[in-house]
Amino acid sequence: MFDSLIRFVQEQYATNDFIPLHAPVFRGREREFVLNTLETTFVSSVGAYVDQFERGVAEFTGSPRAVAVMNGTAALHVALLLAGVERGDLVVTQSLTFVATTNAIAYCGADPLFIDVDRETLGLSPTALDEWLSEHAYVGDDGVCRMRDGGRSIRACLPMHTFGHPVDLDVMIEVCERWHLVLVEDAAESLGSYYKGRHTGSFGQIGVLSFNGNKIMTTGGGGMVLASEEIGKRAKHLTTTAKIPHPYEFYHDEVGYNYRLPNLNAALGCAQLEQLPAFLESKRMLAARYIEFFKDSDLRAIVEPKDCHSNYWLNGVVCESVEQRDALLKSTNDAGVMTRPIWTLMTKLPQHSNAVRGPLANAEWLEARVVNLPSSVLPNEA
Ligand SMILES: *Cc1c(COP(=O)(O)O)cnc(C)c1O
Repeated sequence: MFDSLIRFVQEQYATNDFIPLHAPVFRGREREFVLNTLETTFVSSVGAYVDQFERGVAEFTGSPRAVAVMNGTAALHVALLLAGVERGDLVVTQSLTFVATTNAIAYCGADPLFIDVDRETLGLSPTALDEWLSEHAYVGDDGVCRMRDGGRSIRACLPMHTFGHPVDLDVMIEVCERWHLVLVEDAAESLGSYYKGRHTGSFGQIGVLSFNGNKIMTTGGGGMVLASEEIGKRAKHLTTTAKIPHPYEFYHDEVGYNYRLPNLNAALGCAQLEQLPAFLESKRMLAARYIEFFKDSDLRAIVEPKDCHSNYWLNGVVCESVEQRDALLKSTNDAGVMTRPIWTLMTKLPQHSNAVRGPLANAEWLEARVVNLPSSVLPNEA
């Protein structure tokens, strides 16, 4: 039934073998840099590649400071701590996301407050947030946003740029300011995505990137905290065991974390970062081909929102029904063309079954219809 789609994907990757959803490619100086860490013995928590990688990512994203950590989830955890999230707080986020977003909230002893997504961006809807808060929250004399019922503090807002498509950041910033919420961006999927010409992750007080193996570029496992100089300095301190620098003494002035990115991983990251512009070009080319392919079909290709330049990390289509989605998943996977449904909503997971939430009609609608398609960087010759 989806034979032409299967053939189309096989042509893009010039193979009839299994095609994964997203595989990394190493076409640059990865071997040279990684071997260098072995030859110098600097494989672990200290080394020049970490500093180089942080500077490179800060420059690429236009952030004053970038702090490398061991994965995106750890970056989210630290970002929320630095945003002032405390035990018992609520943090606004979307139900349609990868579980890392809500795990990080739980690590702080806080709970997610789920608000619907927009169908166009697939990300947190600032208008739905404003509506929900208008009905259920107030800003107290102390400047803290609280739930009318019970008085729990709503401290921060954590939107996620789904598949690399930015949320409506102008309105999001306005709503967060109005309600005194600290904006933290889960930009794990959106390295190389821009909203009105500015890089995602650089709008909120803090932004978070991931370099997991399935992301647009990888360090094996890794993440980054994007922030101001001041908050970045705090992030560095907190993620490196809160040690006060000294030539030989051990003194730690608070409970810190060992969330460092090893130099071995940073070496891989430095080599991947050099190829990021080429990766982005390849992905946008593939996305354009998918969009053209689906132009006259009953499946709707997911396209970048207005005023945005997306990295098209994962391409996706919106099916007409759950039956059509299931048929698509079955025929493509049977043919060795890997496709996946979007995530199960966080509100359906047992750990969040009692979470506070607004209406989630768009999230539910998308959950039943969205399928991701193979999106690795194209082979050189394609
Ligand atoms: C990948 C990802 C993360 C971070 O994941 P790690 O595997 O810990 O690097 C966080 N949020 C979202 C939405 C992601 O897709």
